[in-house]
Amino acid sequence: MSLLHSPIPVTPRGQGLIARWADQIDVDADTPRITIGEGGTPLVAAARLSAALGVDLHLKLELTNPTGSFKDRGMCVAVARAVQAGAHTLICASTGNTSASAAAFAAAAGLKCVVIIPSGKIAAGKLQQAQVAGAQVIQIDGNFDDGLDAVRELSTRPGIALVNSVNPYRIEGQKTAAFEVIEDLGGEAPDWLCLPVGNAGNITAYWRGFQEWHAAGKVATLPRLLGVQAAGAAPLVDGAPVAEPETIATAIRIGRPARGEEALAAVAESNGRLLKRTDEQLLSAYARLAHEAGIFAEPASAISLAGLIVALEDGTIERGSRVVCVLTGHGLKDPDSAARIVEPTLTCGPSAAEIAAVLDLA
Ligand SMILES: *Cc1c(COP(=O)(O)O)cnc(C)c1O
Repeated sequence: MSLLHSPIPVTPRGQGLIARWADQIDVDADTPRITIGEGGTPLVAAARLSAALGVDLHLKLELTNPTGSFKDRGMCVAVARAVQAGAHTLICASTGNTSASAAAFAAAAGLKCVVIIPSGKIAAGKLQQAQVAGAQVIQIDGNFDDGLDAVRELSTRPGIALVNSVNPYRIEGQKTAAFEVIEDLGGEAPDWLCLPVGNAGNITAYWRGFQEWHAAGKVATLPRLLGVQAAGAAPLVDGAPVAEPETIATAIRIGRPARGEEALAAVAESNGRLLKRTDEQLLSAYARLAHEAGIFAEPASAISLAGLIVALEDGTIERGSRVVCVLTGHGLKDPDSAARIVEPTLTCGPSAAEIAAVLDLA
C-alpha cells in the first residue's frame, strides 16, 4: 500500500477552525478549508493566582495558536475567503502579530504577502516570523495608524486582499474563541472577560460570539467585558485619538482603533468597563503570570491581568467572580521585554561545591 494513500488521522484541532465551525461562521461550501492548526486553545484554571486574588480565574491561552497569537483565528477565515475571491496577494499593516499570521497563512495557501510595519517598533520575534515565512516586509517611517491608511488604499487594486481586522472575516474567525470559552466552562459564560484592546477587533469579535450563542439559547448569561488599554495608547479610555501612541506593549500601540465604536458599544452593552494601565503595572502583571501561573505571555496580553487586579481593588469586579483573562500572544516573541523582568544569571566553576557556594546552600 502506498504511503500516500494511507489514512492520515486528523485531530479535532488539526481539522482547523473553518471545518470545525463552518455552520457558525460566514463561510460556504466552496470556501477552502485552509488550516495551520489554529483554534482549539486551552482554557486553564490558574490556581495560585485565583487564591491570591480571590477570584475563580481562567486563562484563555491564545498564545498556543500556531504563530503564537489569536490573530490566526481570524486570519484563517480572511485568507480562505481571499483565496476564494481569487486574490494573489495579501496585504496588512501590523504591530507584529498580524504580519506573522498573514505570512504563515499566505505560505500555506500559496499567496504572496506584503506587510507594512512601523519602523523599529515591533518585537524582534514577530518580524522574523514574517520574514521566515517569506513575506515582503516593508518598514515605514510612521506608526501603525499611518500604515493602515496606506494598505487600505493599496488594497483597492485588483487581486490584493486586505487582511487587517477591518476585514469582516477576521471578526468571524475570532468570535469562535467565545464559543470555546463557553464550551470549556460547561455551557456557561464567565462573569467577566478581560482582554487587551488595541485596534479593538478582538473585543468586537468576542462580544459577537457571546451574543450569537446567547441569542441561540446556547448560553444563559452574557459576560461583562473589561477592555484594557495601555496608558500611553488609550484613545478609547481617554475619548480622543492619540497622535503618538507609546507603550512597551507594542501589540496595542495604536492611537486610532479601527473598531473603536464597536468596542465602546460592546463594553456598554455588556455593562462592562474600559480602563488603562501603565507600562509599569503591565510589566508587574507580566511577571506575575510567569511566576505564579507558569505562563509566558507577551506584555500586551498581561495587561488583561493588570486590568483585573485594579478592577478587583476598586470593586468593579467582585471577589469570587468567575473571570477569564485572554492571553493573546506568546512571550517568546519579545525577548527584549523579558529581559526587563529577569534576574541576572549567576556564574561559577563547574563543581558541585562551587555551585552550592553561589546558591548559598547549607
Ligand atoms: C493584536 C493584538 C492585540 C490587540 O487586539 P485588537 O483586536 O487589535 O484589539 C492584543 N494582544 C496581542 C498579543 C495582539 O497581537
